[in-house]
Amino acid sequence: MFMSMKEEKHNKPILFALAAVAIALGITNILLAYNITTEMNQSDRLGVNNIRAELDYLKNRYDAIDKKVEKIDSKMMELKEINEVLNDVRYKLVNINSKDENNNNNSSSNNNALNHILDYSLEQRLKEGLEGKEVEDRGDFKIMYIDDKHKILSRSKVLDAYVDALNSKFILPHDIEVVVDEDDRCKNASGYYEQMRKRIVLCYSSINSFMRLYPDDVGNFSMLVKFLLYHEVAHALIDVYKLPIVGMQEYAADNFAIVMMLNDGDDIHPLIWLYDAMREDKYATSTTTTSSRYWDTHMLFVQRYYDILCLAYGSDPLRYDSNDLPSERAYRCSHEYSSALNAWNELLKPWMKAS
Ligand SMILES: [Zn+2]
Repeated sequence: MFMSMKEEKHNKPILFALAAVAIALGITNILLAYNITTEMNQSDRLGVNNIRAELDYLKNRYDAIDKKVEKIDSKMMELKEINEVLNDVRYKLVNINSKDENNNNNSSSNNNALNHILDYSLEQRLKEGLEGKEVEDRGDFKIMYIDDKHKILSRSKVLDAYVDALNSKFILPHDIEVVVDEDDRCKNASGYYEQMRKRIVLCYSSINSFMRLYPDDVGNFSMLVKFLLYHEVAHALIDVYKLPIVGMQEYAADNFAIVMMLNDGDDIHPLIWLYDAMREDKYATSTTTTSSRYWDTHMLFVQRYYDILCLAYGSDPLRYDSNDLPSERAYRCSHEYSSALNAWNELLKPWMKAS
């Protein structure tokens, strides 16, 4: 012991005070340390949350870019295939051109025209594919009845229903009028398409003759009206879409109308009967033989009759019989129908609305 008892007694309060101060300092330090750590934890937590949000954002961006890359990849594959077809066609045309160069200028210019048509269609599709653009729908088929004296057609709404169906199917770059009228051209035609005015004219005289054929049968009457409309619609679509058609356009227009009607599930028997009644070979010995116009752009009725019959039989051999078709033709009909349907679907694909 280095202090006496007395001194010890005297120093106790001081020692207590010192101990109290030390304890107070210790507590303050602990509190300060606690404060610092809690403050650090809060700022850390904020930082972590920010990083997490940033990571989420980056992950979403990555997913979106990944999807786009996938889309671009499949588009590139498609474009590569189109390009290969285009190159193949170009190669063939260059070959034909070089062979014909020394022969005559006409054939060369025909090939140039064909080259131009093919380039237009394929390049347009290629461009649209690259831009990823949908073709814009800027128009409709619009019906107009001029001098509808009997109002039978306008009231029956037969044409309206067919036109509505066409509008829900096709994308048009502008309106195309479907005018029901009677003018000079109706003396030699049941309807026509005017390229300059971009309008279809259906002749009252023809529609009246259909009505006289089926005065009490709206179903059969409607099939003849639909064929007349679809034949002219084909001319209009070939013009506005600039569809490349090889061969006579009149043949293509008939083919379009029949194939589309069969694909719609229509019963085209009235059409078969009509062409059967008009076929030239039935009148071969009569005075009407001069009506056979071999130079005309339209095929003869007898040829149109067999073509319609073949497509119908080819589409559904149970619904349409082949009694009038020689077996040499009948066995090809199923292929004729499916390849025609496939060709129209391919040609019209860029302008078909999504169903
Ligand atoms: Zn025509």
